Amino acid sequence: MRLSRAFLKTYKEAPKEAQIVSHQLMLRSFMIKQLTRGVYTYLPFGYRVLKKIENITREEMDKAGAQELLMPVLQPASLWEESGRWFAYGPELMRLKDRNEREFSLGPTHEEVITDVVRDSISSYKELPFNVYQIQTKFRDEMRPRFGLMRGREFVMKDAYSFHLTQESLDEEYLNMKDTYSRILERMGLNYRAVEADTGSIGGDASHEFMVLAESGEDDILYNDSSDYAANVEKATSIIELKESNEEKLPKELVETPNAKTIEELANFLNIPKEKTVKAVMLKEVLEDVEKFVLALIRGDLDVNPIKLKNVIGASTELEMMSEEECEKFGLVAGYAGSYEKKEGLYVVIDETVKYVRNFALGANKADYHYINVNLEDLAYDLVADIRTARAGDISPDGKGVLKIARGIEVGHIFKLGEKYSKALNATVLDENGKQAVMKMGCYGMGMSRIISAAIEQNHDEYGIIWPKAIAPYHVDVIIANMKDETQVNIGEKLYNELNQNKIETVLDDRNERAGFKFKDADLIGFPLKIVVGKGAADGIVEVKDRKTGESTDVKVEEVLNFVK
Ligand code: ATP
Ligand code: MG
Ligand code: MG
Ligand code: MG
Repeated sequence: MRLSRAFLKTYKEAPKEAQIVSHQLMLRSFMIKQLTRGVYTYLPFGYRVLKKIENITREEMDKAGAQELLMPVLQPASLWEESGRWFAYGPELMRLKDRNEREFSLGPTHEEVITDVVRDSISSYKELPFNVYQIQTKFRDEMRPRFGLMRGREFVMKDAYSFHLTQESLDEEYLNMKDTYSRILERMGLNYRAVEADTGSIGGDASHEFMVLAESGEDDILYNDSSDYAANVEKATSIIELKESNEEKLPKELVETPNAKTIEELANFLNIPKEKTVKAVMLKEVLEDVEKFVLALIRGDLDVNPIKLKNVIGASTELEMMSEEECEKFGLVAGYAGSYEKKEGLYVVIDETVKYVRNFALGANKADYHYINVNLEDLAYDLVADIRTARAGDISPDGKGVLKIARGIEVGHIFKLGEKYSKALNATVLDENGKQAVMKMGCYGMGMSRIISAAIEQNHDEYGIIWPKAIAPYHVDVIIANMKDETQVNIGEKLYNELNQNKIETVLDDRNERAGFKFKDADLIGFPLKIVVGKGAADGIVEVKDRKTGESTDVKVEEVLNFVK
């Protein structure tokens, strides 16, 4: 690619609403352009990175024995009703109607669709196991789309689904996928950890998240350097299970902490009344899961006014459309979020947890709304934070060292789903004895577009992006320092052609710009190598500079190819 002909427009500064460095750098280097909240165009360089990520993933999935297919984005509500998720998925599901008023969703994930395909086509255990995957655009009406590609409403995911007769077979494939995910992230040059995770609303009995370590990450993980124990903070503290067991006992892992063995002790430890502790734990629980939230409302466990159930289910992100006055009217602690234009009068509650509760409460029916106990919500947050701090420094559950805490970005998530969807959708096969058996399923997701952001969070400096070679848009940027110097132009052209002919992905900066401007762009866009054809060209010498190490070497023109290879 000749930059003189490229669709490229770099910026010295990022708009204010870009809060984290990857978002800023992607906008400044013209990798993406926002269309509307959480929806982006992938510009040519950004799209090349996405394709590299997709291809590495594709190669490793194929190697692992999975087969690629492509499922529809548009999915009938009836299928989601069968699995129970038309209700349970809540407002994150993008919903629309066709001309006949039939309801549809835009797929946020594809368990339902694949299970439907499989139940209609597979009838014998002999046809199992198999694993199929797709790389496709997903839609989720995220409560707070932000940070560029990190949390989009439209984003690209690789999602895989495996089907089995036996648990052993599922276990085996789960391990195969766990290894495959590790290989994929290693090939991309990312520093990551596989952590034990809760299965959340998707269901199932085992799950791991793949976390790219970065300060800007939204997740806390507890890990141990002396062994491979690592878990996300929810799993590590398991506070969600507390209410489920309906006993006043803390889960095993928490019991192991010196700080709290019972609700009583936890309450003491947190210095809050026991009753409130239980509620705080419960609140944390229900926030994880829409279904549980609604149940809690019905049971009256939450300090919110009873809300018409039907309306709650259909609630959307209505709160985001509220004015300041409206927020006040409902007694809300509304905050102005940077990404919203104040003039449009859009307000959101800053605190995600608080917002979640209120979203539902308000979406239900504003007239019915009276109050939400804000203290309780704060409590829930404090509780989680306290438990987290309490856990760091503890002995690892495997007894092999001390727990440390880090922040991570969830780039992948694998689940043993078991029979959750196959049972609901009646996906069965005949087993060896001619008996109907419900198939067992695994599902394996990886955020293709989010990985771009995560990679930048982990690989940048004050000048711009430092792409790991495997996912760089191009490997080499040949810069002609002075376009008026014929020797420089000739050598630049020669190197550009030679490198590309040898399959080294190279751009030529032949723009009529100052050398300094070109260097800045090269560093911003983050090509792993920059070749400067400058004054030394007269003596047949160019400068090769490594973006990551900053190392600079003078190389003879005829030796460049070997040097770069
Ligand atoms: P999160 O906790 O960040 O909301 P999730 O747990 O809802 O993610 P999964 O359902 O596990 O996401 O989806 C699989 C993968 O898809 C995630 O690990 C993540 O990499 C990616 N992903 C999920 N939501 C988004 C999004 N809104 N934008 C970009 N990537 C996403
Ligand atoms: Mg999510
Ligand atoms: Mg998650
Ligand atoms: Mg997940």
